Amino acid sequence: MNWVRIVLLISCWAVAGSASADSTASNGASAPVVIVNADLADGTGAALRKANIRVQGDRITAVGQFEPTAADHVINGAGLVLAPGFIDIHNHSDGGLENEPLATSQISQGITTIILGPDGSSPWPVGAWLEQRRRNPASVNLALMVGHATVRERVMRADYKRIARPAEIAEMAKLVEQGMAEGAIGLSSGVEYDVASYSNTDELVALAAAAARHGGFYMTHIRDEADRSFEALNEEIAIGARAHIPVEHSHIKLGTVKVWGKAPEYIRVIEAARRRGVDFLADCYPYDAWNSNIKVLVPDKQYENPGSVARALADVGGANHVTITDFAPEPGYNGHTLEELAHAAGVSPVEMFIQIIRKGDAAGTEAMIICQSMTEPDIKAFYQQPWVMVASDGGIDARHPRGAGTFPRVLGRYVREKKWLELPEAIRKMTSLPARRLGWTDRGIVRPGAIADLVLFNPKTVLDRATFLHPETLSEGIETVFVNGVQVWSGGKPTGARPGRVLPK
Ligand SMILES: [Zn+2]
Repeated sequence: MNWVRIVLLISCWAVAGSASADSTASNGASAPVVIVNADLADGTGAALRKANIRVQGDRITAVGQFEPTAADHVINGAGLVLAPGFIDIHNHSDGGLENEPLATSQISQGITTIILGPDGSSPWPVGAWLEQRRRNPASVNLALMVGHATVRERVMRADYKRIARPAEIAEMAKLVEQGMAEGAIGLSSGVEYDVASYSNTDELVALAAAAARHGGFYMTHIRDEADRSFEALNEEIAIGARAHIPVEHSHIKLGTVKVWGKAPEYIRVIEAARRRGVDFLADCYPYDAWNSNIKVLVPDKQYENPGSVARALADVGGANHVTITDFAPEPGYNGHTLEELAHAAGVSPVEMFIQIIRKGDAAGTEAMIICQSMTEPDIKAFYQQPWVMVASDGGIDARHPRGAGTFPRVLGRYVREKKWLELPEAIRKMTSLPARRLGWTDRGIVRPGAIADLVLFNPKTVLDRATFLHPETLSEGIETVFVNGVQVWSGGKPTGARPGRVLPK
């Protein structure tokens, strides 16, 4: 096979790929694709090996040392790694997909499946929303969680700032079951956030049990990721044990000065729970800063109490660790730290914080912030656990660089530069490990018969380029991405194809 022929075949395939963009599904009638000369990371964590892959329709039909036939479209993967497409188990693209179904910031990272509705907040009703996704398919596959806060608000309305009554919990459980019956794959919670923070453990157990009855798992942003991280972790483990449900710990972190450096202790608690039979996995995004609303900083919710605010700022390492990213009443604040804003206004950081709270409340909004409050040794310790996977907590239009950079960042910085992880293990954390939590055996792995969600990337150049100032900047080094056997990303841009499916449990 000479180069001219390969190039011709690749361009033929690209044309075929975009031509099929209008048809709603890959129909298996297109010519087989064979990827040759790549180093295969099959998703299991096994060492890289040379293998050719044949894709026919939406499936991988052959893996090994075979020769392409004249009928095959051949893609030369020399110098590239071929891996299963990345599965992002914590993704906030549910709002962005309608207008941006090509999901460029996602497929450019090698993501082929996104799990939506995390942190307790999901579209509702589940069935109608999923139907809309089927009518307007995306480039990527998706699946949806039922949000705990979503059902809590439907039942308690504005009167949510209290413990729920048994009848209300029963009603919420019914809604969780409805969501699961309509196609959701589990229950998510964001117990640190306002609506859910008033729920007690019994409520969460009851709702998790409702999801478990339908084969779902429990994905949770726990009650506290700061000083009370250990209490919150123990509550989460208790929920998993009492509801007999697999647990996915969202964005594992230790986010205040008092718990910095305690990852080894945190890990010991989790490993003890795993030994007791709690099916516990976690995910982690590769950044030392989180992104949320400004109120999350103050755990006692005394947002205008100078003592509480001062403590909150000290807990995250100071006002220079807090950057406003989006504040509609004062767009000029965006991109500045609380310390800079206070200095410019001639007030203390505490006073500045309280002013922002008051302006936000008056306008019916909250400032969004980035808070640099995690440490690299803790992130490294978490990433090196075999039960910790990679997830972005990002999505289309994220204000945090993780939205466009997560997966290439792990491959470029944690694998190639810092050598925290071997490449095959990092790939496992992006593919078969999330697939295991989702209960999927035909994705997240390269083997004959598996679905052809695939990514070809250059291990020497793959790297995130998104920054806190320019979070939209696309990553580099992801060469080609297939979803359900259809090429969605090639030559640094989307092909326009939208073969993504709504995936069931
Ligand atoms: Zn979260």
